[in-house]
Amino acid sequence: LIHRSPCRARFSALPILPVITAGGCIMFGIMAATRLEALHFTQDPATGLQAIIAIHSTLLGPALGGCRYFAYADTHSAVADAARLAQGMSYKAALAGLPFGGGKAVILRPPHVANRGALFEAFGRFIETLNGRYISAVDSGTKAFDMDCIAQQTQHVTSTSSAGDPSPHTAMGVFAGIRSSAMARLGCDDLQGLRIAVQGLGQVGYALAEQLAAAGAELLVSDLDPGRVLLAVEQLGARALHSDELAATPCDIFVPCGLGGVLDQATVAHLHCAVVAGAANNQLASPEVADLLEARGILYAPDYVINSGGLIYVALQHQGAELPAISAQLTRIGQRLTDIYAQAQAQNRSPARVAAEQAEALLYPH
Ligand code: NAD
Repeated sequence: LIHRSPCRARFSALPILPVITAGGCIMFGIMAATRLEALHFTQDPATGLQAIIAIHSTLLGPALGGCRYFAYADTHSAVADAARLAQGMSYKAALAGLPFGGGKAVILRPPHVANRGALFEAFGRFIETLNGRYISAVDSGTKAFDMDCIAQQTQHVTSTSSAGDPSPHTAMGVFAGIRSSAMARLGCDDLQGLRIAVQGLGQVGYALAEQLAAAGAELLVSDLDPGRVLLAVEQLGARALHSDELAATPCDIFVPCGLGGVLDQATVAHLHCAVVAGAANNQLASPEVADLLEARGILYAPDYVINSGGLIYVALQHQGAELPAISAQLTRIGQRLTDIYAQAQAQNRSPARVAAEQAEALLYPH
């Protein structure tokens, strides 16, 4: 059934989107599909802010999750992204044993911004209205300076300039997870000489590529930004490939570090690797893709387990923990994956399904 969403009144300044639902409001459809606790919207014409905060769960604690700043094709995509990302954060925090729930914010990047600082300050005021139920952090498109602007208006923010960037910690956790994955599938956690394809050389992907190069891996890389690719070629001796080619190029380990949804039926059919293990959130276009990977004999590291290093860092740092205690938690990511792989093998199921069931047992105890 194609009709106009009854929720469109909330977006009177935006184009009205035709949506497909089984009846009722598309927003509630997304909320039901992701079991979201709450969805909050704001706009501030003075700064151009249009933002969404999705709170997936506060059962285990306040909803902690990054703020994405991105030019979405339409509002529906932004809401769906926020909801799925928030759900992933709940699963991530639960499996990492953190006393936090999951949430995510997206700011719809306007074509022109007169004053970026003012826009993020307006977003900070929005966070403050939620009385600590949502705590923000950096994510794709945002930096510590943006969090500093948010911090002018609310204390419910992490990863400010003084708190430090979580990306290197995410990269550290992914590196540990890649080694565990190599051990589980290739029988050795030494990455020397392995051909590893890194898609996306942003804050996490580049830091990870540095570690992989230092471990002696042969690096294949792609990024939409030619400057990042050039840097990896010149600094790390990586071989550059076009983004469309990289996933289909033969390698030992494919490492998605760009945006989500990169693993769909078509991509999986063309993968030539033994392992997929990367930082990107929501790598699977749908949960069934995990079974396709399994059927092709490709080991998949559940994204919200392997990329939990950044969350562990910001969560523990927000609680006042010191670096050695945080680092000790980061090193457990590898073991967590090893345990999931062992359980998956024993039960003849995909690691993604095992991880999801473990998280859901914590999030929905009754
Ligand atoms: P970023 O924005 O700094 O980097 C993303 C990079 O990927 C950019 O350089 C972009 O050009 C590139 N890219 C996007 N689509 C691509 C494609 N199709 N092919 C090749 N390159 C592509 O983001 P980031 O902070 O490095 O995060 C990367 C991913 O990891 C995101 O999915 C993010 O949600 C996830 N993640 C990040 C953290 C963190 O600590 N920053 C923590 C957990 C998960």
